[in-house]
Order: sequence, then C-alpha cells, then structure tokens
Amino acid sequence: MPATLSHAIDLRSDTVTQPTAAMRQAMATAVVGDDVYQEDPTVKALEERVADTFGHEAGLFTPTGTLANLLAINALVPAGAEVLCEGTSHIVRAELGAHAQIFGVTTRTWSHPHGTPDLEQITAMFAPPMGDLLVRTAAVSVENTHNFAGGTVIDLSQLQALRDWADQNKCQLHIDGARIWNAAVASGVSLRQYGKLADVITVCFSKGLGAPIGSMVLGQAEVISHARVVRKRLGAGMRQVGVVAAAAEYAFTHHRTRLEEDHLNAQLIGRYCGLEPAAVPTNIVIVEVNDAARIVQEAANRGVLISSLGRTKIRAVTHLDITADQARYAGRVLGELVAATAR
Ligand SMILES: *Cc1c(COP(=O)(O)O)cnc(C)c1O
Repeated sequence: MPATLSHAIDLRSDTVTQPTAAMRQAMATAVVGDDVYQEDPTVKALEERVADTFGHEAGLFTPTGTLANLLAINALVPAGAEVLCEGTSHIVRAELGAHAQIFGVTTRTWSHPHGTPDLEQITAMFAPPMGDLLVRTAAVSVENTHNFAGGTVIDLSQLQALRDWADQNKCQLHIDGARIWNAAVASGVSLRQYGKLADVITVCFSKGLGAPIGSMVLGQAEVISHARVVRKRLGAGMRQVGVVAAAAEYAFTHHRTRLEEDHLNAQLIGRYCGLEPAAVPTNIVIVEVNDAARIVQEAANRGVLISSLGRTKIRAVTHLDITADQARYAGRVLGELVAATAR
C-alpha cells in the first residue's frame, strides 16, 4: 500500500461509509419524540417529505431495507400467493427466506443477465387466480438499480411496459429502490416518475446516501398505516428514532447529486479492469474472473477491499468515502490482478 494511504480502500459495499461531521451534528440537534406514539417530528417530517418526493401518500421509516421489503411484499401479497422477481434479486438472495417464513409468501424467479424485467418470461410465469387451492401471482418485484447484476438501471420504457402489464393482469408492482437514487442520477428520470410506477416502493438511506441506518417503505396511506402495525408486531416500533431519521434526512438532502462522483469513480475502476463504460452504469463494478477468492485476497494484501460474488465474479462498490485518487489506485490494483490471473 502506498504511504499516502493510511488505511484500506474499502470497496466491499456502499454500506461501509462513516457518518460525516455535519450528519452527526444534525443527529445531535434533532428534535425527537416517541415515534410509536407518532410523536417524533423529525421522523414524521422525513416520512412526509420522502413520500411526497416519490408521489406517494405516505412513508414508514424502518431500521433496514430488508424490513422495508418485507413490509412492502406483505402489503401486496397475501399468505399462499406469490411474488415474481429476478433470480438474483435481494428479496430472494439476501433476505434469508423471511417472506416465506414470516408471511407464507412464495417466490418464482425469471433470469436476466442485467437483472431487469423480462415481460416475455413474466407473462409465461404469471399464475392467474384458480381458486383457493393454487398459488396465484399477486405481485412482481423489480430492483432498480440491481445490486448483484452490477448496479444496472431499468429503462423507463421497460418499467412503464411492466406497469401496463401489471394493470392489465390485476397484479401489483413493487420496486426495491435501495439504490433508486443512483438510478435517478444515472438516467435523469425523476424519483417521482419512478415512484408513480410502483404500488409500493422501498428506499434505503444507508447505501449510497451514506446514512448509518434507515430505509423507508412508501405507498398509499392505508397500506402504510397497516405496515406501521406490522412493523410494531415484528418488534421494530422505534421510540426517539428522530436521532437516526435526522441522519437520513441529511443524506437525502445533501448526498444525492454527489452520486455522480461515485459513478465516475466506478467507471474509472471498470476501465482499469477492461470493462466498457456501459458495463458500469452506476456505482457497482462486477468483473468476471478465474478465481475470485484469490483476487479478493491479493487485493486485500495491497490495501483494496472488495467482495466476491460466487467463484468467478468480483464486486467493487464506490461510495461517499472513496475519492477519485483512491478509485484510481484501486483500479490499477484490480486491473493488474485481473490481467495476471487471466493468463
Ligand atoms: C442493501 C439492499 C437492501 C436492504 O438491505 P438492508 O441491509 O436490510 O438494509 C434491499 N435491497 C437491495 C437491492 C439492497 O442492495
């Protein structure tokens, strides 16, 4: 590691960021109350502001995106029905069976290399109601941007086509928008446009936006007040949580437009690894390699922390705490290791 780098460059995820001094200041001075009594003004203001931004009636603050997704799918899919989603989406790959275990929801998956919706496959999979003894499709869930597919953005026209399809088939649409901020910055599509296409959308403040904790589920007022009850049932009713919501509010206000920097830094890393610009649409760089575990280890030895996705893919994620210089250094290291192990 060069002498100028005092510690490792951590590209394992965009969740590893430290709260900034200004964010901590906002947390320290937040006006708070008991949010289970709905008396925390900081939480209420954030819920209203974010819901309004996405064109939804209401929002519910949650500690994690996993819980937000759980509440979202529960709002759209009754026990014994199913949600269709892409095979590498967070709800099937990273939520550890919660939708099935807790709510009796089953999933069936389509596959797409970019993680995007495939109307042909979705249409073929769709299960219309055939009585109480067969599973019916109640919702489709899509991820924008898509994490395990490499931060891909779903085309607005594709989302619109899916929305139209959902309406025709009396099916509901969930958008997992953990990184919807990145999608909006990359595509120029507004958060409101994205929001209006979904029956329920979930968003995270703790990924690219750099808050320490916090996600939100957004939808119609009735849906969200029911989700509030379910959140309490699951043990996640929170008290003076405005301390945390203040960080999310700070991130939402100040850290959205700067995501462009993360995207440029990811491009830089991708270029060193031989990827075309189009292969790095946002802040996630995924490279196909021979031996992911070995590259992860050798990169760590040189001060660059990344993760592996299975045996033949490495993933580097840029974020708030990564400078262009760090991205360049990391890109050089990864580029060399990728080239060396390819031989
Ligand atoms: C991180 C993430 C979530 C939520 O994860 P938590 O760690 O529970 O906050 C949901 N969806 C996607 C696509 C994610 O990347």
